[in-house]
Amino acid sequence: MSIKCDMLEFAGQNTPCYIYEKSLITERCRALKAAIPEARFLYSVKTNPFAPVLKAVSSEGFGADAASSEEVFKAVDAGILPENIYYSAPGKTREDIRKALGKCVFIADSLSELKTLNEYAKERGETLSAGLRINPLFSMEGANPSSSKFGIDEELISSAAFDFPCLKISGIHIHLKSQVLNADTLCAYYENCYDLAERVSRLLNTDLKFINFGSGIGTVYDGACENPLDLEIIGHTFKKLAERNRKSLGAEFLLETGRFVTCNAGTYFTRIIDRKVSRGRTYLIVEDAVNGFLRPAIAELLRQCLGSFPSGGLEPFYTSAAQCTFTIPGKTGQTEKVDIAGNLCTPLDVMARDIELPRGEAGDIIAVSNAGSYGYTLSPLLFSSHGAPKEFMWE
Ligand SMILES: *Cc1c(COP(=O)(O)O)cnc(C)c1O
Repeated sequence: MSIKCDMLEFAGQNTPCYIYEKSLITERCRALKAAIPEARFLYSVKTNPFAPVLKAVSSEGFGADAASSEEVFKAVDAGILPENIYYSAPGKTREDIRKALGKCVFIADSLSELKTLNEYAKERGETLSAGLRINPLFSMEGANPSSSKFGIDEELISSAAFDFPCLKISGIHIHLKSQVLNADTLCAYYENCYDLAERVSRLLNTDLKFINFGSGIGTVYDGACENPLDLEIIGHTFKKLAERNRKSLGAEFLLETGRFVTCNAGTYFTRIIDRKVSRGRTYLIVEDAVNGFLRPAIAELLRQCLGSFPSGGLEPFYTSAAQCTFTIPGKTGQTEKVDIAGNLCTPLDVMARDIELPRGEAGDIIAVSNAGSYGYTLSPLLFSSHGAPKEFMWE
């Protein structure tokens, strides 16, 4: 992680803060569009709903994957058209549905939600198009379908069970896993999704306008251990699927992505307030640790419980042992082993334990990488009333 001088100076005047680099976000959007021209992309708002970030992805032509009615409104505010905002989440209330009506495409998550949508459509005397989130009979790895709080089990889909005269099922949505870096795994999954779409179209005797393949597109957190996802392989698979689609469903392909676009573009900056040594252990006490950027602390918490970092991800809370890099920008020289802890009244308020850093003093700034997704909004910003970090888009 190299941080430009002007950014560092700006961060120094504004800690604790998140800075997102617009050029990196735009670059990622363009890489996806260039590699997979057959798909249209939806940005998963929950990964980073900061308005300038939404504007940046929206101006690249991305639609939105909204996880709440509030995220639907945020997408609207960013200039995304209702037909490009897909609202998919379990447990939408009637109030959520009422508020979002006309502002998005609903993806129904259960049979009772289909019933509610049907009632709204009937009241308004219109036919409402809606998608279906499906819990398929396959997993990302191929076999072993599991139970899920998301979507409708594939085996429950039949025209008999789908008696909703005011609804038109216009598409399907599948999302099983995030942060996949193996292109072959993803491609096999995409092909399974397409097969599923054909089955659903047959079972419900309906033309599907869209297939939302969900996310899975991973980004590199730990450059030493991970290889970037090969987008070219994915592009190749989508070419084949598009060929098949021309003779079969004629549906639009949608791909969701959040962290691939924003994760590596964001850095969290916090300041060392105090430096202390307790019985041989050196602590750098910083502003807003757990309550500013939770993810690194969850990694340390898991290590403490389990004796080592878990090898599999627990998304979106934890990805891997080296999911963030810590630096004191501008400082070099001999390193020492330190813990980075925060100002909360819990010993678990630790962002990193036993990491090697050049000697840090009170006043120095610590930069934490990979803070562009699941950073600000995933953190307990209200705890202990310290005040939330600021957020900035770096243009
Ligand atoms: C959270 C979420 C995403 C975002 O996925 P990332 O892999 O973290 O980018 C995409 N789709 C759905 C349905 C989600 O819930």
